[in-house]
Amino acid sequence: MRKIADWGNYPVIEADVSGFDTADQLRRELEPPGEVIAFGNGRSYGDASLQKRMLLTRRFNKFLSFNEETGELCCQAGVLLSEILDVFVPRGWFLPVTPGTKQITIGGAIAADVHGKNHHVDGSFGQHVVSMDVMRNEGSIITCSPTENADFFKITVGGMGLSGIILSAAFKLRRIETAYIREETRRASNLDEIMDSFEASTDWTYSVAWIDCLAKGDAMGRSIMTRGEHATAGDLVNQARQSAPLKLKKGLKLDVPITLPNFALNPLSMKAFNVLYYNKTRPGTHQRVVDYNGFFYPLDAIDNWNRIYGKRGFTQYQFVIPKEAGRDGMRAILKRITDSGLGSFLAVLKLFGEQESFMSFPMAGYTLALDFPISVKAMELFKVLDAMVADYGGRLYLAKDSRMNAEMFEKTYPNADEFRQAIAMLNEGETKFASLQSKRIGITS
Ligand SMILES: Cc1cc2nc3c(=O)[nH]c(=O)nc-3n(C[C@H](O)[C@H](O)[C@H](O)COP(=O)(O)OP(=O)(O)OC[C@H]3O[C@@H](n4cnc5c(N)ncnc54)[C@H](O)[C@@H]3O)c2cc1C
Repeated sequence: MRKIADWGNYPVIEADVSGFDTADQLRRELEPPGEVIAFGNGRSYGDASLQKRMLLTRRFNKFLSFNEETGELCCQAGVLLSEILDVFVPRGWFLPVTPGTKQITIGGAIAADVHGKNHHVDGSFGQHVVSMDVMRNEGSIITCSPTENADFFKITVGGMGLSGIILSAAFKLRRIETAYIREETRRASNLDEIMDSFEASTDWTYSVAWIDCLAKGDAMGRSIMTRGEHATAGDLVNQARQSAPLKLKKGLKLDVPITLPNFALNPLSMKAFNVLYYNKTRPGTHQRVVDYNGFFYPLDAIDNWNRIYGKRGFTQYQFVIPKEAGRDGMRAILKRITDSGLGSFLAVLKLFGEQESFMSFPMAGYTLALDFPISVKAMELFKVLDAMVADYGGRLYLAKDSRMNAEMFEKTYPNADEFRQAIAMLNEGETKFASLQSKRIGITS
């Protein structure tokens, strides 16, 4: 038994964990009766990959094939995005979609159907998956794709590990000329301004905004908008970069070596951080060329940054509301959050494009993600926010969730019932794949 948690360190559980190096070993792990869940790299925030018996996929991490012409990569599901970048960026290829950390596995990217700053242009990760092999409860392997065993594919992408264990996947990388991003940042002084800015940014490949969720009144929603494009060789002015456009120098790694005491992060320290961050960007538009790590993964530069929230842990409240409800809805929800004074210094706003997958989180609309240290007050606030999100026709992201109830899930995921029935049918009576989350939100009993 081992103490284990996902990224928010809430909940922390005692679990029986084992890994596997081959499909045969995994088959043997699945033989004993009882429930299991796949655990990738534990970068979901709550309890989506937690269960009293967990199968760790990280050792199953080989590259299987790569087509230099089409960019199609096939690898085992325990490969990290960072491992793909290390090998393929120097060869001129990048991920089709990446979340805000590269420390996640391919299995986790597909099971949560992750999104990135380019969702409005390129959709979610699952939309780039050409095919995958998944091991079912009795050890058989199903190959599925948008055209082969399409129904099974549909419930596995965004299916949070409940249809089986993804063994390997093939997906297309995108060509790049350099390892750099041409970045533009600008300040928006309130919510209307940042929403105008998003709506005028649809021709940029990457866009995202950081919101000061503690600013109130006329300044509510003040933000820094960041947009980006992969830099071409011509965009590089620095000679060292020009001579090796696809190579990056090793960056400095910082670490939070211990879990900080709960009082280290309080409303005052958060407010100070937000004010400093906002004022760091001067008024006007600023352009620069940055390496891809700085643009996509600023948080990965600090190992174990989740420890700053202390032993109580934290959760990320990420919701999306449809674009039509956008301005009014976001204003009302943000006001509720700023009034509570509980919001943290990491609030990320993004405008998603259209998406109609079976269980995936994104829909055309605005998504906001905020970290909250775990507290009774925060839990009370979430109940109020849940009701507002549901009323505006939105939903919460399962990869970030640790506390939504079954009623909220049912109300906000239109295919919840069909998904539950499909998973029950696949389990043929005895539930095999289940997580603490799937039980809490009523997908598995
Ligand atoms: C700093 C940070 C930033 C983030 N930014 C974003 C973002 O911008 N966009 C976004 O979409 N997400 C984001 N995330 C969330 C993260 O991308 C997802 O939670 C992702 O699923 C984590 O992958 P993992 O490999 O760590 O899997 P885990 O967290 O271990 O598991 C996640 C889910 O995938 C399932 N799973 C894992 N491997 C397999 C497998 N082989 N077969 C079947 N099921 C499997 C698990 O059972 C679980 O349900 C962020 C997380 C962090 C910590």
